[in-house]
Amino acid sequence: MNKFEQLGLNESLLLAIKDLGFENPSEVQEKAIPVLLEQNTDLVALAQTGTGKTAAFGFPLIQKIDAENRNTQALILSPTRELCLQITNEIKLYSKYIKGLHTVAVYGGASITEQAREVKRGAQIIVATPGRMQDMINRGLVNIKNIDFCILDEADEMLNMGFYDDICSILSDTPEEKNTWLFSATMPAEVARIGKQFMSNPVEITVGHKNSGSATVSHEFYLVNARDRYEALKRLADANPDIFSVVFCRTKRDTQAIAEKLIEDGYNAAALHGDLSQAQRDGVMKSFRGRQIQMLVATDVAARGIDVDNVTHVVNYQLPDEIETYNHRSGRTGRAGKLGTSIVIITKSELRKISAIERIIKQKFEEKTIPNGIEICEIQLLHLANKIKDTEVDHEIDNYLPAINEVLDGLSKEELIKKMVSVEFNRFISYYKKKRDLSSQSAGERSSEGRAPQAGDAVRYFINIGSRDNFDWMSLKDYLKETLDLGRDDVFKVDVKEGFSFFNTDAEHSDKVMEILNNVQLEGRRINVEISKNDGGGRRDHNGRHSGGERRGGFGGGRSFGGERKSFGGDRERAPRGERSDRGGFGGERRSDRSERRSDSSERAPRNERRSGGTTPRRSDSSAPRRPRRS
Ligand code: ADP
Ligand code: MG
Repeated sequence: MNKFEQLGLNESLLLAIKDLGFENPSEVQEKAIPVLLEQNTDLVALAQTGTGKTAAFGFPLIQKIDAENRNTQALILSPTRELCLQITNEIKLYSKYIKGLHTVAVYGGASITEQAREVKRGAQIIVATPGRMQDMINRGLVNIKNIDFCILDEADEMLNMGFYDDICSILSDTPEEKNTWLFSATMPAEVARIGKQFMSNPVEITVGHKNSGSATVSHEFYLVNARDRYEALKRLADANPDIFSVVFCRTKRDTQAIAEKLIEDGYNAAALHGDLSQAQRDGVMKSFRGRQIQMLVATDVAARGIDVDNVTHVVNYQLPDEIETYNHRSGRTGRAGKLGTSIVIITKSELRKISAIERIIKQKFEEKTIPNGIEICEIQLLHLANKIKDTEVDHEIDNYLPAINEVLDGLSKEELIKKMVSVEFNRFISYYKKKRDLSSQSAGERSSEGRAPQAGDAVRYFINIGSRDNFDWMSLKDYLKETLDLGRDDVFKVDVKEGFSFFNTDAEHSDKVMEILNNVQLEGRRINVEISKNDGGGRRDHNGRHSGGERRGGFGGGRSFGGERKSFGGDRERAPRGERSDRGGFGGERRSDRSERRSDSSERAPRNERRSGGTTPRRSDSSAPRRPRRS
C-alpha cells in the first residue's frame, strides 16, 4: 500500500498522484489529510512555503466534494491572482480522474461576466482572490450561502495585503456549519484573530517551527545577454565546484542540447525529458541520486516530483513560460531543512518577470553578477587546495614513492605546492584569462572598457565575411547599410580581407549592429560580428582569434586557441572516456547527428586559412577547461 493510500485517499486521487510523480506525502500532508478526511472539523495548519499545503487541503477537499451535485460546495481564498491560478491548476490536476468535478478561478483583471458564467455552469470549487470575490458577491453573481468548506490559503499574506475586511465580509456570507481550514506560513496576531472569530475548536497542525520566516531557498538572478546564457551557466558551475543541481530548460530540445554541450565541455551532466524511454530516465535518476551527475538538465514535466535531497542549486537556464512553474522548480532544492539556491539566468527583456515571481514566492531576489575569470580561478584554486588536504592516501602509493621522490628531488616545498596546484589550475587560468566579463551591458559598452559609449565614439567590428564572399569595401558597406537600415555615412572605415572584414559605426549603433547582424544569414551561413578591441582594427584577428563559436553555441570556438588545444586534448585523453559516454549515453543518436551538423557548418565557415592545422574534429569551445570529475 503506498503512503498516500495509507492516508485514506481514494483511487482516483491515487491515480492523479501517480501522474504527478509524488512518491511520498510531505509532512503537512501526512498530518492534515487523515484528520480532514475523517473529521468534520476546522483546522489551522502552519507550514512554510513549498511544503505542499495545496495538496494537504486539496486532496481531502476533492474527496469530500460531491461531484454529482453541481452546487458550489467549497471556496478557497488566496491572496494573489498568480496563486489563485496556481491553486486552480493544481486542483484540476488532482481531480482529473473525477468526472463532473469543476473548479473555477475567480480573480481580478479578467472578465467578471465570463467568470460568473463559468460559475453558473456548475463549479463545486471556487478559487478566488478576496477582492474579486467580494465584487462577485455584491453583484449577486455567485452563491456561497450553502458551501461546506472554506479554505483560507496563505492567510498571513492575505492579511498582509489588507484583505481583512474583505475576508470578514465574505466569511459572513457563508453558513455557520461549514468547516474552515486555514493555511499559513506564519501566525501573526491578525491571523489568530481571524481564527478566533470564524473557527471553532480548530485542530492545530504545525510543521517545522512556528513563525520561522520563509524558506530555506534563496533566490538569485544573473542578468546576461541572450547569447551568453550558456557561458554563464558554465561559469556558475565552475564557480560552484561542488554543485549538485537541476538545470531547467523550456523545451525537450533545449534540454537535450544543453546537456550535450555540458557533457562535451567536461561536466558531469545528463538530460532528463519525455523523449527518453522509462529505462533511460530511471538510469539518469539513478546516476543523479548517486551523485555521478552534478548537473541534471531537465524539462519541467520530467522534473516533477524529483525528490532528491541535498540539491544545492536549481538553475533556471530559461524561465518557464508560466511563471507559476518557478515554484515547482525552486522547490527541488532547499529540501529536508537543507539550504538551497535558486538561480535565474535572465536577459533584460525578461527582467520584469522577476518581480512577478517575487510576488508569487513572497521573497526577494538578489541580483548578482556572473563571476569573472579571476574569481573563478580563485574559487577553483581553493577548492583544489581543500581537495588535496582532504584526500585520503592509499598506502599502495608507498611503492611508487622512491621513484617519484627521485623525480621531484630538489624542489622546495613551496615550489612543489605551486607546481602541483598548477597541474590543475593552469587550464582554468589559461581559459579564463582570455575571457571577457559577462555582464549584461551592451556590447558597445563593453568595448570601451566598461564606460558607457559616448556620442561620437566609434566602434570597430570584426565580421566573418570578406572578399571570398564576393564583397569589396563598397559592396560590403552597401550591404551593411541596407541590412542595418543605417544612413549613408553611418558605416565607415570598411576594410575587407579574404575571409573576414572590419568596419566602424558610431557607438550609438552598436547594439543594433550586434543584434541584427548576429541574427542574419548570408547564403545559409550565420553571420558573426564582434567588437574589435583594437581601434586600429585588424590586428587581433590576423591569427583568427575570436570567440564566434561560443556565441553560436556551435563549432570552432576553440580553433583559435591552437596552442592550448593540445594541452586540453591531453587532458581529454586522461579523462575516463568510458565514464563520459556512459553519462552522455542518452540520445546517442542525436549526438552523432549533432557532430555531423557541426562539421557541416565548419565546412562552410569561411576560414580556410585557419583550418590548415587540420585539427579535427572541432568541438564546441574545445578550449574550455575540463572540469575535474568527481570521484
Ligand atoms: P505550499 O503551498 O506549501 O507553498 P505547494 O502546495 O505549492 O506548497 O507545493 C510546492 C511544490 O511541491 C509543488 O510543486 C507541488 O507540486 C510539490 N509537491 C506537493 N506535494 C508533494 C509531494 N508529496 N511530493 C512531491 N512534490 C510535492
Ligand atoms: Mg501554497
